[in-house]
Formats: sequence, structure tokens, C-alpha cells
Amino acid sequence: MAVRRDSAVGEQGPAGAKKTAKATKVSEPSGVEKPTETTPTPAEMPVPAEKAVPVKKPTPARKAAAAKTAAAKTAAMKTAPVAPEKPAKPESHTALVRRARRINRELAEVYPYAHPELDFENSFELIVATVLSAQTTDLRVNQTTPALFAKYPTPEDLAAANPEEVEEILRPCGFFRAKTKSVIGLSKALVENHDGEVPGRLEDLVKLPGVGRKTAFVVLGNAFGRPGITVDTHFQRLVRRWRWTEETDPDKIEAAVGALFPKSEWTMLSHHVIFHGRRICHARKPACGACPIAPLCPAFGEGETDPEKAKKLLKYEKGGFPGQRLKPPQSYLDAGGIPAPPLGATG
Ligand code: SF4
Repeated sequence: MAVRRDSAVGEQGPAGAKKTAKATKVSEPSGVEKPTETTPTPAEMPVPAEKAVPVKKPTPARKAAAAKTAAAKTAAMKTAPVAPEKPAKPESHTALVRRARRINRELAEVYPYAHPELDFENSFELIVATVLSAQTTDLRVNQTTPALFAKYPTPEDLAAANPEEVEEILRPCGFFRAKTKSVIGLSKALVENHDGEVPGRLEDLVKLPGVGRKTAFVVLGNAFGRPGITVDTHFQRLVRRWRWTEETDPDKIEAAVGALFPKSEWTMLSHHVIFHGRRICHARKPACGACPIAPLCPAFGEGETDPEKAKKLLKYEKGGFPGQRLKPPQSYLDAGGIPAPPLGATG
């Protein structure tokens, strides 16, 4: 996961990282049904009696060719996602809950290792990294924070820092002056009001400078194990594509989606959705033709539906494109994921 991605966070990984890999292997769409042909082919159309032509007996060669074509067709049907059938009537709330939970279950199979994509060792590092991730990629933050935390490992250190020196370190993250102000202000508030500790309650977190509900939920979910929904740009886009809600306000989206799932699933749900948004269901060109949940998605067809072309749009570790963490969790490495190269690396 990425812990959080702010509104304009880019879709892709390292600016300098080569996309060496070819497209990736994504689980085949599950639940794909064989389409039924409703339009008669010319051969099936009734032929007027006067124009009827004698039917040729198939020769062995013709039979073999026909069998080959049928096999190819079947194989194509098995690999290409199928657009969901249009519901005859509006989806009931119960059906929506079932579909939403099924999407989450399927995504859990595709991304069993979904996790925050910001590197952190403790709650202080996580809250600072999350604040820094606004308007940039998690990878960029991960490339920047090692120097920051080496020099200022605690809230006390960062609260007493020289802003100009912090600005120099944070420059690659963009908006570095504002971000410097935020993280120093945040550290001062932690020192003055919370004994230098990150509080574990939503109401305390949102009072910290630069911390909104989204950042607070990232911290609660990933540093304190308290369920939270992270409504970032990917989450907003995908839940609307899936018609889980028509809301546009992040707080209302959070409430609407939260009502579809048990609380205990909120944090992993957020990771699954954000992973899917970063890897397959992109903002501009979703890879519908290679999407494992295509049969459950009302927006199938918004992106590329040709399976081969869609595969080329994937940004998926297993195909060689690295995840955004420099120090990813072991489960991710075990699953074949590739960590991102450090800043300046060529590979
Ligand atoms: S819009 Fe396309 S890529 Fe996104 S979830 Fe739906 S089918 Fe998959």
C-alpha cells in the first residue's frame, strides 16, 4: 500500500527507474464467463431458398482448420476479461455489499502482500513520511527520508532543527518549504502536547499541524493497528468506477464505503484498492483487458480492453516494475516483488 497518496501523487514508480520488464503476469480474471454469441454469423443466417447453395461436405483439412479456430477462440475467451452484463434494474444495497466484498476478496488474492508503500520504522517516521507524500510519489519520499531520519531521528530533534537545513533535505519532495514548516510544526506539537509521542487517537492526530483525516487513518491503521479507510486519489477514483458510492467528498466517501465492510477490513481494503489503482486501474488508461476484477466492474471498457495492449499498461512488480518501498515487508519479497532502486540508481 501506500500508506497514502495524496491527491496528485503520480501513478508510477521511480522517475529514473527503467521499465525493463515486459508486462506482467496478473492473475487471470476469475469468474469470467463465456460470452454467448447473440448475433448470427453469415454462415448461420437463413439463406433464401432461391439463393441456397449446396452445402459442401467438410474435408479433413477443413475440419482440422475449423477445430484450430475453435480452440483459438476458446483460449481467447478464457484469457480476455468479459464486460459485466448490464443490470436490468438498479443494484440493491445487498447486491452492492456482496459485489464490493467480492471485489475486495479478489484483490486480496491478487495483492496478498498489499502494504503501506512508505518506508517507516516507527509511528513518528510514518506520520512525517505521510505528510511529506503530498503531491509526490511514495518512492520519492522513501528516497528522501533516510537522510532526514538519520539527522533528526526523534520529534525533539526535528522540533529543534534549523529550517534551512531541513529544506535542503526535503527539496526533492517538492513544496519543500511548506513541508519543512509542517514537519517541524508537527514535531513541536508532539513534544509540547504529547511528550514526544505520536498519539493513537483520531481526535488528537487531526489537531496536529498538517495532519488531516487521511494521514490520521494511515497512522492509526499502520502504526497502531486501528482500522481506518485511507481515501486518497486512487481510492476516490476506483470506488466511483465500481459504483460503491457517488459521493465526491472524501469524508462522505469514507463513511459510504465504511458502511459496506466490517471495520476490521478497512485498513487492508484501503491497501488493496490503492495497490490496484497504482498497478492496473490507472487514472488515464486503466488496463481493463488485463484486470482480474473486470467481471465485477461496471466501468469495464473505460480503459484498454484488448488483453495484449492492456498487459503493456500494467505497472506490476512481478513483471519487473518495482514497488515503491526501498525496504519492503518480507511478505512482499516472498511473493516475488521487487523493491525500488535508491535515488540516483540506474537500474
Ligand atoms: S475500470 Fe477497468 S481496470 Fe479499473 S477495475 Fe474496472 S475493469 Fe478493472
